[in-house]
Amino acid sequence: MKPEYINHQYFNSYYYANIVNNLIINRWNFLGFVSQFFEIEPIASLIEPWQKKSVLHQFIYYVISTTIEDEAYDDAVEQLKIAKLRGNNELGSVYIEWVFENYQIECYSFKDFCPKDLHSIEEDDFYEYYIELILCSDIEGLYKKITEEVFYIIFNNRNLLLNFNWIVAGYIQDLNIDMFKEDFQENSVYLLKEGQLKRESIPEWVKHAVYFRDRGKCCLCKKDLSGTLSLSNEKEYDHIVPLSLGGSNDVTNIQLLCKECNRNKGDGKIFTSNLYEKWY
Ligand SMILES: [Zn+2]
Repeated sequence: MKPEYINHQYFNSYYYANIVNNLIINRWNFLGFVSQFFEIEPIASLIEPWQKKSVLHQFIYYVISTTIEDEAYDDAVEQLKIAKLRGNNELGSVYIEWVFENYQIECYSFKDFCPKDLHSIEEDDFYEYYIELILCSDIEGLYKKITEEVFYIIFNNRNLLLNFNWIVAGYIQDLNIDMFKEDFQENSVYLLKEGQLKRESIPEWVKHAVYFRDRGKCCLCKKDLSGTLSLSNEKEYDHIVPLSLGGSNDVTNIQLLCKECNRNKGDGKIFTSNLYEKWY
């Protein structure tokens, strides 16, 4: 498999990764926000097996788009207040323009959108500017870029992946025919029964990603599974949240285990390890 490279700017990505982390770990404090994600996403995009745009990607995208929308407005309003207090003549670039610039994505400037003098600018202008950005600039491209970066950071944190997949499992456990009358028929192909997805064979790209993330070792006992030290150690790809408990066929729900640990874990148990090999 050929390696692929992506250019990461990491502009505010750790900040967004932290928001995603807090939402997942403290989900009971943000129930409304988290459950809204499951309400607006189509069922297929949550249960279709092995999507490269994983369910976690979709959740990160949802968090980023919502957060940036609020921040773009709040920060611009604050900036306007300060500029007026300081007696400036011009507003300068607003926050969202800085974000675009950092990712080298062109955007329509606020100045071009609203060529008023500073004292005539109103807060509503920022709201309309944001709508204009959605229509005229590649704001989706911007969100996708930041989503990739946040995913890259988070994918290494198995405990966070476990917690996220447990949230998704809550949704899958509740899947039943009555709830999704209209689009259930076409999506029922993914279900073994109500509240449980079918086991689907794991594609090579998923195995490859998980193998390298877990450094070719069993996550639990750290046994080498690369085949260089011992040919007898068999590698198995385990669903962190088992399918029987609502786990999904998603790259974020897989970990590398040896045969023995996988057998000991058994079905119906959810755990991973928080032990990571040091860089040096
Ligand atoms: Zn093991």
